[in-house]
Amino acid sequence: MASSTKQVKLDDIRQQIVDDKVTPELAAQATQLVFGDGNAEAELVFIGEAPGKNEDLQGIPFVGAAGQFLNDMLGMIGLKRKDIYITNIVKYRPPNNRDPYPEEKQVFLPYLESQLEVIQPLLVVTLGRHSLNCFLPDLQISKVHGQPKRYKGRVYLPLFHPAAALYNGSMRQTLIDDFALIPTIIQKIKLT
Ligand code: URA
Repeated sequence: MASSTKQVKLDDIRQQIVDDKVTPELAAQATQLVFGDGNAEAELVFIGEAPGKNEDLQGIPFVGAAGQFLNDMLGMIGLKRKDIYITNIVKYRPPNNRDPYPEEKQVFLPYLESQLEVIQPLLVVTLGRHSLNCFLPDLQISKVHGQPKRYKGRVYLPLFHPAAALYNGSMRQTLIDDFALIPTIIQKIKLT
């Protein structure tokens, strides 16, 4: 599929969220929908939880402190934001940055699935336990972080959330070490 075609399809999914009036309570409190950012042709898709304050204001995922840390780690493996696609499970900022409710995650899941069906990435990197458990509900992030998991035709790499790891020395190093595995994991997927 040509890149522009994929982007058009992503734009359609974005419009569908608006037309379907998904989570009207969240939408009413948010500045805007934060749908996703980056390259529709990417091999790598990152999935976070929900937009925070900066993301809500700018309409782009991961632009605050956690996003800067993520950009730094991407740089360590020779990638830029334009090389990847990034989105969240929940596409509106929950008030006061509370955790998204299970029903909010549930209602956004079909749209996230559609995004992945359009992009067809080689590897889906889940950031944090909410994102991991959306796809693989029985796994514990503390046990499986850094280990690629093949499930229903997709490969997932569970990572700690950069916001949780940012100010926690040992988790931060673990996340950096796990992140460094990404190029090798992608190479292996290409060979299988
Ligand atoms: N944390 C997330 O999970 N997503 C963002 O977009 C920003 C911070």
